[in-house]
Amino acid sequence: MKILVLNCGSSSLKYQLIDSETENVLAKGLCERIGIDGMLKHEPVGKDKFVSNDPLPDHSTAVKAVMDALVDPEHGVIGSTLEIGAVGHRVVHGGEYFANSVLITEEVKDALRKCIDLAPLHNPANIIGIEACEKLMPGVPQVAVFDTAFHQTMPEKAYLYALPYEYYEKYKVRKYGFHGTSHRYVSQECAKLIGKPIEELKIVTCHLGNGASICAVRKGISVDTSMGFTPLDGLAMGTRSGSVDPAAILYLMRKENLTIDQMDHILNKESGVLGISGVSSDFRDIEAAEGEGNERATSALDLFAYRVAKTIGEYVTAMKGVDAIVFTAGLGENSATMRQVICDYLRYLGIELDSYNNSQRGKAIEITTRQSRVQVFVIPTNEELVIARDTREIVEGLKK
Ligand code: AMP
Repeated sequence: MKILVLNCGSSSLKYQLIDSETENVLAKGLCERIGIDGMLKHEPVGKDKFVSNDPLPDHSTAVKAVMDALVDPEHGVIGSTLEIGAVGHRVVHGGEYFANSVLITEEVKDALRKCIDLAPLHNPANIIGIEACEKLMPGVPQVAVFDTAFHQTMPEKAYLYALPYEYYEKYKVRKYGFHGTSHRYVSQECAKLIGKPIEELKIVTCHLGNGASICAVRKGISVDTSMGFTPLDGLAMGTRSGSVDPAAILYLMRKENLTIDQMDHILNKESGVLGISGVSSDFRDIEAAEGEGNERATSALDLFAYRVAKTIGEYVTAMKGVDAIVFTAGLGENSATMRQVICDYLRYLGIELDSYNNSQRGKAIEITTRQSRVQVFVIPTNEELVIARDTREIVEGLKK
């Protein structure tokens, strides 16, 4: 079965067409600037890339442009859209409604609408993407795979905030956690590499990309994670502040006469390693600036690594031990220096890095020596593959 995996953002749409039998990607691409002007970048495997600047006024037009690109005689990879057996959607927020991926029905869409308040930028785009597919591919089953679902196993002591309980009851203000698809995938891959059932393992997974979060995975389930009610909490990130004393935010708003929207922008777009370094939100630029002696770049990298290492320590405590630590996503997979600095903090756990393996790139690999008391791995994440697998499983279940 060929599965179209869609990730609809507020003004973008990423896609992959995956052959679910072979798990090969047939084509992938990106629509950007939806609602502004429009740009489609289409990469069919084994054929030339294709770029179009045709206008994309809304997500519906973008989904149609993707379908046209997939069946185009020159840069297409399928003869007809009838070959698409199912669509898997990455959905950011499933609230407390969804602990697993689900077949999209009218009831599911109603629940997604109820979660709009929790993810005002993302869930509306997801719903529009789902409805566009319904229109363009009537009868093709669609599945929602949630960023939050994996973390629904967290115990109450991990997800409650110490705020008046009525706010949890009234508004469901609590920790949800994100990047769940990635944490689930790399923890399962880690168990395979160790060669033990995941039910016997305590794993800390570190998804370090532009957005960054850490998860404590005990017996295959999430017991705590660093992002919270929104993806702003926890670690410092590219442009997001991560945890800050809430009173500091109130203080700044008063001092600078900031509106809620202005403060929201500062915390989400002007903070993190960009805010500290003043250089960039991209870790490659910051590492380069550090190499040229930029002290604020050094401060940003130091702060980032310190907070990652401290959070790993917290999760070792939460699980009363740890067997393995996994690094994944753009920075986690690619920066040997960042992994080295983080693991230096963790020597007290008996971690010993193998510097040759730590310098390898682009593959799943153990980066600790045989003597190391905790195994550390780099495992490239693959959220699209998880979405395709979940979609296939659910759709095949329908036929039984
Ligand atoms: P992601 O959000 O997973 O796509 O990750 C994006 C982040 O990974 C960006 O901030 C990049 O700076 C970082 N990144 C990607 N490649 C490298 C690299 N070779 N060295 C350091 N950071 C990298």
